[in-house]
Amino acid sequence: MLLRITHYDEPILRLSGEEVTIFDDKLGQLAEDMIDTMHEAEGIGLAAQQVGKALRFCVVEIAHNPENPITCIFDGKPLNPDLLMPLALANPEIEELPGEDMVYEEGCLSFPEIRGDVVRADRVRVRYLDLKGTEHVLECDGLLSRCIQHETDHLAGILFIDRMEPEVLAEIKPEVKELKRLTKKAINKK
Ligand SMILES: [Zn+2]
Repeated sequence: MLLRITHYDEPILRLSGEEVTIFDDKLGQLAEDMIDTMHEAEGIGLAAQQVGKALRFCVVEIAHNPENPITCIFDGKPLNPDLLMPLALANPEIEELPGEDMVYEEGCLSFPEIRGDVVRADRVRVRYLDLKGTEHVLECDGLLSRCIQHETDHLAGILFIDRMEPEVLAEIKPEVKELKRLTKKAINKK
């Protein structure tokens, strides 16, 4: 089932999610619906807040790109990241690993057609629970690391615009303002 994607500046996007504590069919269904919604919107990640739920839960799916390979260590062993996709993460905790920060032009499904450079750690270690409640430790870099960092931010009510340098933010400010206006209009219509 496709879910409605919330847009900036709906209040839900600023809420910290509650820990996931029940790993049942309902959570599995939510993951499935979020993955379908993400595919439909042609995104690579989607957080619970973006479908109207204040939960520490997100989904990610990165397509393999041989030009930008991802180094991935899953539960202590090297793993082809394709085998993890789509990935559902409950209660993810991120630790940045040593290395150079990377700049990348990010988008967000809650900010249609708005993009801007964000600096983030290249490599992270993420501890999370899968749909059965089993803990995993994933170390990764590149686009997968970036996407997990972006989605985990959502779970704490942090948006990519909060991470942008002032000059980057200044450039997209008119578009963000217009989005805010349109969202308000759409909400008031309901
Ligand atoms: Zn986003």
